[in-house]
Amino acid sequence: MSLYRPEFSTSEQLRIDAEFSRLAKNKSVYLDHAGTTLYAENQVKAAAEQLQRNVICNPHTCRLTGDFVDQVRFKVLEFFNTTAEDYHVIFTANATAALSLVADNFDFGSSGDFHFCQENHTSVLGMRERVRANGIYMLKEAEISAGLANGKGKVLQEESSRRTGNSLVTFSAQCNFSGYKIPLEAIGRIQTDGLPQAGKRIWGSGDEKKDTTHNDYYVCLDAACFVATSPLDLHKYQPDYVCLSFYKIFGYPTGVGALLVSRRGAEAFGKRRFFGGGTINYAYPHAMDHQLRESFQQRYEDGTLPFLSIVALLEGFRTLERLVPKAEGLGTMERISRHVFGLAQYLEEQLTELEHPNGEKLIQLYNKVGYRDKSRQGGIVAFNVRTETGSFVGFGEIACVAALHGILLRTGCFCNIGACQYYLGLDEQAMDAIYKRAGRICGDYFDLIDGQPTGAVRVSFGYMTTRQDVDELLKMLRSSYLATKPQQRIRFIEEQAEQLPPVLKKRAEQLRPKLLQLAVFPVKSCAAFKVESLGSWPLTDQGLKYDREWMIVDMNGMALTQKRCTELCLIRPSIRLDIGQLELQFGEDGATISVPLSLEDQAADSAKCVSKVCRQPVEGLDCGDQVAQWLCQNLGLEGLRLLRQSGQRNASKDQQTKQKLSLVNQAQFLLLNKSSVRSLQFEEPLDETVDRFRANIIIDTGCAFEELAYKGLTIGGIRFQVEGPCQRCDMICINQRTGERSPETLTTISRLQQGRMRFGIYITRIPDDLEDSEAKEQHMTCGDTVLVE
Ligand SMILES: *Cc1c(COP(=O)(O)O)cnc(C)c1O
Repeated sequence: MSLYRPEFSTSEQLRIDAEFSRLAKNKSVYLDHAGTTLYAENQVKAAAEQLQRNVICNPHTCRLTGDFVDQVRFKVLEFFNTTAEDYHVIFTANATAALSLVADNFDFGSSGDFHFCQENHTSVLGMRERVRANGIYMLKEAEISAGLANGKGKVLQEESSRRTGNSLVTFSAQCNFSGYKIPLEAIGRIQTDGLPQAGKRIWGSGDEKKDTTHNDYYVCLDAACFVATSPLDLHKYQPDYVCLSFYKIFGYPTGVGALLVSRRGAEAFGKRRFFGGGTINYAYPHAMDHQLRESFQQRYEDGTLPFLSIVALLEGFRTLERLVPKAEGLGTMERISRHVFGLAQYLEEQLTELEHPNGEKLIQLYNKVGYRDKSRQGGIVAFNVRTETGSFVGFGEIACVAALHGILLRTGCFCNIGACQYYLGLDEQAMDAIYKRAGRICGDYFDLIDGQPTGAVRVSFGYMTTRQDVDELLKMLRSSYLATKPQQRIRFIEEQAEQLPPVLKKRAEQLRPKLLQLAVFPVKSCAAFKVESLGSWPLTDQGLKYDREWMIVDMNGMALTQKRCTELCLIRPSIRLDIGQLELQFGEDGATISVPLSLEDQAADSAKCVSKVCRQPVEGLDCGDQVAQWLCQNLGLEGLRLLRQSGQRNASKDQQTKQKLSLVNQAQFLLLNKSSVRSLQFEEPLDETVDRFRANIIIDTGCAFEELAYKGLTIGGIRFQVEGPCQRCDMICINQRTGERSPETLTTISRLQQGRMRFGIYITRIPDDLEDSEAKEQHMTCGDTVLVE
């Protein structure tokens, strides 16, 4: 085992730490630098001062701003070790916009092809919709990096008369999934030798094995991930196009990227099919006549540049040089790349050593060449977690558990489905099973399908990441996922529970479970209003009447949740049907306030607002100043408002069906079996643990976890269909009586269930065909018998 050797001296490290003090204040460990890195605190301060000192205005108006922008262009060229002699700098919105600009403007001639790499970012795949190429080819990464070692390629210079087309080859300098770095030598090789008959043609007509030697080859380098933590030397390697986003290098500002175009690349750009403000010398309105600007980059910068952000880039460059100064002949980016690589190497070593007591590895790593050579591997580690029986833990749960530990990391496919396919070994059938049949979409939490992962966990480092950050991650993985006492685990899980044992179905009358408790949550994220003993409660087609009918929004109109404000659980609503009021009380004997239950009594002039719940826009009616003030006072926050949902959350039928299918969204009811909670044996009163789950329907069957095998159930004559287990897990760490947080709750469950975390089931009422639901309100009554199937 090699020891971790820090790249930065102690004093350098202290200086860096001081600029990211907000991480500790927010108890955050940030490990998603491939998503974006973080800005230094003095960097944004200095950028703001810059704005305060100077009169910066539209560069088309003001010379000074124009000079600033040119200064930044100069800095960008210097940063990549090149000059305006060799490269043009076109400012874009981000790397994606730069790629799309190449796709739009590259002139393929009559025979040019478009080649991209399997392990490409979605934004590169998107280029194929725009390019006017002859054929479109997917290349394996090996086909690019191995290049044409066999020398089959053809040098075309002598035969220039035969050239009829330009081919474009696009690939990432560093894979944003795995951190693998492609050998940049491939660039020059492709430019001179081409790529005859490589790759799999996915589009195009005619003879696939045609002679491609009459094409010139150009390279578009997606450098967005690579340049964030590695030096790119454009003197040494000269791709024709380089695409990047600055926030990945500096953290601030967002909204600026660049397309660097070599002289050679500029010549392969065709005639533009659009011109915008700033790109022309003149354009007649009365005739199809315009003249483009002389300067190449100006022709492609449509409209007003994000000049304030561009000016702020200067501070980004300065900050990197200030915090990571050149030392012993190593440049800033070289040192950053050594730092992040060192951390990745350390993490990989530690992860490899994690084993369950039975000797099974905890971690499945995804990388191509290991962590030996920083010219081939960057500061990214992608992996999945396995249980001691070898099954995978879903990445959705890792994300949840990590978040509870204050660790920010990324899960899924990271906009790189091709890399996901490659590293997880998914063939075309497996891809169809995931995306077409199971309906996974980017960004969701369908993390396991038939036990196989559909994505991974990714951690990535920046110059401000410390070894302690990596240790926090290791600590989280060890404490949450390493089995310690294997025999103590609850052995119910699907294998056994798939089929409900017949004895449970045929339970004798007196042994049938009863509905124990109903819980209505009138105000989203606040305490429950419980209906117990023989009480009954009306149902609507949304669920329990008044459930989540109100919500508290902050000054930005965003719904307040316990995640952001744990004190919400101290707000206790009671629904007073007798007097037609919703009463709120703060704490056990705090102040109270009321709002009317009936929508008609709601002030006719109350303002309509729109907020979002579970990513769905909801329309709400404002409940007035009085209750708003009461909320602000009790929660100690400014600008809060209470909204009442006016429209239906599941507006369209379409959406409703969709919601039923997706476990990510909430179903109508969450049902909890008290017996399962009992098996957790937490050191707190059982009912407090029950409350943590914020379920609507609580039963007690005497048999822990049998509910996971239910297909449907009938409670007091009302039929429900089971949507699936509840995998939401963020709330249960908050004790609903005290508002205290304890991540252990979650990690305990995760461990008991071999990292699965399923507790309670989502159920939806099956509408009764005969009954006219408008006319007859149905009720559920505590004490009702529960029949299961
Ligand atoms: C981030 C990233 C992109 C896209 O960058 P945007 O800023 O979202 O346009 C493209 N390719 C790679 C390799 C990336 O890491």
